[in-house]
Amino acid sequence: MADQLAPALDDLPDRVRLAMLPTPFPVGAVNCWLFAERPVTVVDPGMYLPESLQMFEDLLASEGLAVSDVDQVLLTHAHPDHFGAAGWITENSAATVFCGTAERDKVIDTPMDRDLALAVVSDLGLPDDVIAVLPAGFEMLRQMIRHPLPARVEPLEDGDTFDAGGRTWSVHVTPGHAQGHVSLHDPAADVLVSGDHLLPHITPNPALEIDATVEGGRRHSLVEYLANLDRFAELDAAAVLPGHGPAFADVPGLVATMHHHHERRADRILELIDGMGQPSVYEIAQVMFPTLDGMGVMLGISEVVGHLDLLERSGAVLRSSDTPVLYTAA
Ligand SMILES: [Zn+2]
Repeated sequence: MADQLAPALDDLPDRVRLAMLPTPFPVGAVNCWLFAERPVTVVDPGMYLPESLQMFEDLLASEGLAVSDVDQVLLTHAHPDHFGAAGWITENSAATVFCGTAERDKVIDTPMDRDLALAVVSDLGLPDDVIAVLPAGFEMLRQMIRHPLPARVEPLEDGDTFDAGGRTWSVHVTPGHAQGHVSLHDPAADVLVSGDHLLPHITPNPALEIDATVEGGRRHSLVEYLANLDRFAELDAAAVLPGHGPAFADVPGLVATMHHHHERRADRILELIDGMGQPSVYEIAQVMFPTLDGMGVMLGISEVVGHLDLLERSGAVLRSSDTPVLYTAA
């Protein structure tokens, strides 16, 4: 879904600086926010790519700063486009890296449970030839990431406060796009740093997240995401600084649009299941997103599986216990 879903702001809040750093992903540039006063704080430093690092240094230089001046790095979540350069900053400064507790393992590179991941993608119905290209994709991503040392990474919890840019921010940890996704709200100035939880032009992808503690081995990302959406509508911040796209306003309008979008997409998937009989997640994704390939296949998979979780919760579909898992209309 790519349109302007919320009205862009012409001006940024006072003393907030932005660099739009390049990524190789379909989403395009990632927003890096700088609060230049002490403690010098960077939100989402982008990827470990030469062009991106140069733009990051240019952003700091525009405020008379160098990488060695960075005191704090706030990671909204541990996706490569947002956190890849974090380790490089800590190698060149005394900065502390902050992230949601549930993101910490990804930030410091705790090895993932490959057997569980393989079981999950097999349940989703990915054919062997598609599964076979995934390790190369992950390896390519690893080249664009420098992980910080564990001792430099501090976890944040929902309800914590965080001081940066002369403000005391309230920390909102809301699972969905990522389990430990952090947003910052400044109640005094009514500014929200939203990461990828709220974006002005696309609905955040309910990224597939492996989790051994959940039945089926993966989190129900879209269910969790939607459960946490309304609290941001209630905050109704005057200025939202997102992870991608322009700063914007009207969160209640955006939230209403997103609820509507997800209901329509779930309806569409239910129609497809009706027509297909007993499809797997992969088979539905192939019909809905036929042009995705390589790692992009996983974006379509997570969209479909997210909506299937919603449909299953509402009792509209039934899930088989086969491998791959098959869905039927109830
Ligand atoms: Zn992102």
